[in-house]
Order: sequence, then C-alpha cells, then structure tokens
Amino acid sequence: MRIDLVTVFPDYFAPLGLSLVGKAIAAGLVDVAVHDLRRWTSDVHRSVDDTPFGGGAGMVMKPEPWGAALDELLGQEAATASAGALCPSSPHSDPIGQTGLDDGAASAADVAAPTSRRPRAFFIIPSPSGVPFSQALARDWALADRLIFACGRYEGIDARVPLHAAQRIETAEVSLGDYVLNGGEVAALAMVEAVVRLIPGVLGNPQSLVEESHAPSWDGLLEYPVYTKPASWRGLDVPTVLLSGHHAKIAQWRRAQAVALTRLRRPSA
Ligand code: SAM
Repeated sequence: MRIDLVTVFPDYFAPLGLSLVGKAIAAGLVDVAVHDLRRWTSDVHRSVDDTPFGGGAGMVMKPEPWGAALDELLGQEAATASAGALCPSSPHSDPIGQTGLDDGAASAADVAAPTSRRPRAFFIIPSPSGVPFSQALARDWALADRLIFACGRYEGIDARVPLHAAQRIETAEVSLGDYVLNGGEVAALAMVEAVVRLIPGVLGNPQSLVEESHAPSWDGLLEYPVYTKPASWRGLDVPTVLLSGHHAKIAQWRRAQAVALTRLRRPSA
C-alpha cells in the first residue's frame, strides 16, 4: 500500500517512523510519503489560505494548491500504473524510511486478506464534519492500494476541493470524533495507524486482531479486561478464573465480560 500525506506541517508525521508502522515501512509492507502543501503554491509568500467568502472568522485553505497536489500525485499513479508498480516518492515528498522488522509474518481473518484486494485509491480529508471514522472504514481502506490524506488547517479546506477530487478518485471527509482539533494531522496519524496494523504481516501475532474490540470475529464487542502478573497488586486480585487453567471457563468468562462492557459503554450498539 502507498500512503501520501499532504500537510503544511510535515514534521507532524515523524512518529510514523516509530513502532509497528515504522517497522512496516522498513519491511516494505507500506510505502509512506509526506508532502509539504506549500510546494504546490505559486506565489512568493507560498500562501495556502485566504479570507472566507461571505465573511466570518478565520482563514480558509485555497483550492489551487490542493488541486495541483492531487494532479501531481494522481499523475504519478497513472504514469507508473503501466509499469505495474505504485508510484515512487514525489520530488515534493519526504519518504519515511525505518529500521528492521522483528515481528514474524501474520495472517488471520481480521487482517486485510491479500486475495480480496481491489485496485482502489481513496482521497481522505479529515474533518470534524465528516463521517465518523470506524474500524469498518479502517478494514476497507486496508484493502486499498493507495490512500491520500489532505490535512486541513484554519477553518478547513475550500469545499470545492472534495467535489472536484470526487470526479477522479473515491473521496471521503472523515471525522476522528465529535470534537475539534487544530488540524488534520493528528486525525490522519490515527487513521493511518488503525489501517496499517490491519495489513497482513504488520502485527507479529495476527491472533491479536481476532478478539480485539470492534473486530467482526468478536461480533463487534469491546474487548474483555486483561491482566498480567502479579496476581495480586495493591489489594486488587486478578479474577480467579484466569488462574484456573480451564480454557473453556476462561473463554466463557471473557465473552460475558465483553458483552457486559459493551452494554455499559456502547448501550446503543
Ligand atoms: N471550522 C471547522 C469546523 O467547524 O468544522 C473546524 C476546522 S479545524 C480548526 C481545522 C482542521 O482540523 C480541519 O479542517 C480538519 O482537517 C482538522 N480536524 C479538526 N477536528 C477534526 C476531527 N474531529 N476529525 C478530523 N479532522 C479534524
């Protein structure tokens, strides 16, 4: 999978070089490039924003740099598609390169199965007024060949950008949650992490995906409480069933806990 992140703050994405996403990049499981939107500006001030039509507070991101960015990124794809490869890093990009993968290869029902991969690309605009991000979206995107994130700032991106983009690529405005961040970078980081961990080979033990919160194989339930040693800590004991070694009883207890927790914390689910 190829992931492009377009932003006015490229440094925001340095954490992608860490942990499992960093290892996935180093192992070639995902190719990530971060692009500075200002490279697609044409004025001396490299402006990406202007005052809103109709008045009001704040600034709005101009459509032209976003249009030029998408032209170039999609153009690369067209140019390289005939060679049967996803695009190399743009001259406007900083590919993130990392160190080795120490986890073993993974394969499980809840990771994105290679056999079901479709040649799909998404243009994703993080926005507090977008559709809610979910594990289901993450699973769908994990099957894509390409994700392009447009990270807005200020009062957001000129509304013609998603309209125009939708004529060329599957486009979605997606919210991380019902609150307002200062920019799309944090939302894009969260979405990238949720997607990349579903790519086969990224998690050392694919079994981790099976009984985790929101997994289809776990009926969308929240995960049960988990414990480790010591069995007694500051007067709090681990539930005795978990020390019993009785696998069927443990499975039954975990399922009951997951159902109770889901009813409590997601009463409408
Ligand atoms: N004026 C916008 C509104 O009221 O909906 C808020 C703009 S916000 C200050 C600036 C940028 O942060 C947005 O364009 C978007 O890229 C990002 N952003 C803020 N909250 C977000 C959220 N909950 N989910 C995804 N992106 C968000």
